[in-house]
Amino acid sequence: MADEKAPRPAVEETIIIGSGPAGWTAGLYTARANLNPLLITGNDYGGQVSITYEVENYPGFPEALSGPELVEKMKEQAEKFGLAVEYDHVSEIVTDQHPFVVRTVNGKEYKAKSLILCTGARPRFLQVPGEQQFTGKGVSYCATCDGFFFRGKELVVVGGGDSAVEEGLFLTKFATKVRIIHRRDELRASKIVRDRAFAHPKMEFVWNSVVTSVNGNGSVSSVSTKNIVTGETAEIKTDGVFVYIGHLPNNDLYHGKLHLDEDGHLITDKKMRTNVPGIFAAGEIQDKVFKQVATSVGQGCSAAMQTEKFLAELESEGYHGGVDPREFPSYAPFVATVKTTATKTTATVTTPERVLVPA
Ligand SMILES: Cc1cc2nc3c(=O)[nH]c(=O)nc-3n(C[C@H](O)[C@H](O)[C@H](O)COP(=O)(O)OP(=O)(O)OC[C@H]3O[C@@H](n4cnc5c(N)ncnc54)[C@H](O)[C@@H]3O)c2cc1C
Repeated sequence: MADEKAPRPAVEETIIIGSGPAGWTAGLYTARANLNPLLITGNDYGGQVSITYEVENYPGFPEALSGPELVEKMKEQAEKFGLAVEYDHVSEIVTDQHPFVVRTVNGKEYKAKSLILCTGARPRFLQVPGEQQFTGKGVSYCATCDGFFFRGKELVVVGGGDSAVEEGLFLTKFATKVRIIHRRDELRASKIVRDRAFAHPKMEFVWNSVVTSVNGNGSVSSVSTKNIVTGETAEIKTDGVFVYIGHLPNNDLYHGKLHLDEDGHLITDKKMRTNVPGIFAAGEIQDKVFKQVATSVGQGCSAAMQTEKFLAELESEGYHGGVDPREFPSYAPFVATVKTTATKTTATVTTPERVLVPA
């Protein structure tokens, strides 16, 4: 909890939303920059990494550590420099006025000169018996993270889009066989990825089928499947299950307020700026490509450094609150235009170094 003895300022310098790797890193950097930051954890304390059994690919920890352990270390380090933590979930942000307003499900209301949005994403789950029980012990949502644990094993991948097939191909580096289980009779993945998969000697395909349970005793030994055309059921032996049936950004707070891409991720420029000046974003809420602890940490660091710069520039231009900051050059936004076509929304981002005309 935030320290009761140190009352919060009427207007926070910055509020960080989310307690995944991006959030803790933004907290560490803004705390060390003397911004007296406040982090609101959200309902999923620690984010996705907290449901990770073992993290082996985060630098600095040659002995693998569990996801919850890594979260505690990140928190401890940020708190050491003064990060205040609130165990609460944000229900609304107001972005068309400054200071911004943040409201929570516990009825709190905060004002802040800047926001760092680190609300992350979540994998779409199969929601079948055994999935939760074996998560981190044979069921995975990240081939880059866990493929290494399956050397010489047989695997199944559930899904038929680009991610499923690309990750399946990646898993062939370790596994002796990779079976793709897909609910349709053709892959949705792009042609080049499909062609590579069909040509690969270790890949096999189970069409028109869904997984109905993950089975095992201590570790995964098989999945049960059902053919949705014939109704036929089967049991497929496997040592691991990689699930790629979608990745959902936690974007409920942003609809109609901040620019989102066609998949619902916040659009940011290389300086982690959203289309509203003073609102930055980091981690999987704006990154659908890399999706790692290390990359989320890097983006949290970048967002924090830019926040510090934004606040310093506003102050140097004479902003001390009480006036509309849109008068100040630093407040000018980068230009993000979102073009909607009948089937698809495309986003173009232009990022002038400095826009001198007030927004
Ligand atoms: C099972 C699994 C295993 C993984 N293993 C690895 C691994 O071994 N190595 C690796 O590098 N990566 C791994 N990853 C990926 C890694 O966990 C993510 O890339 C990383 O956690 C993303 O960090 P983030 O800070 O962007 O967001 P997240 O970790 O998604 O955290 C988002 C945070 O935002 C909060 N939030 C959401 N909405 C609100 C709201 N309205 N108000 C307040 N807070 C909110 C949530 O409570 C949560 O704390 C794994 C992922 C999964 C699912």
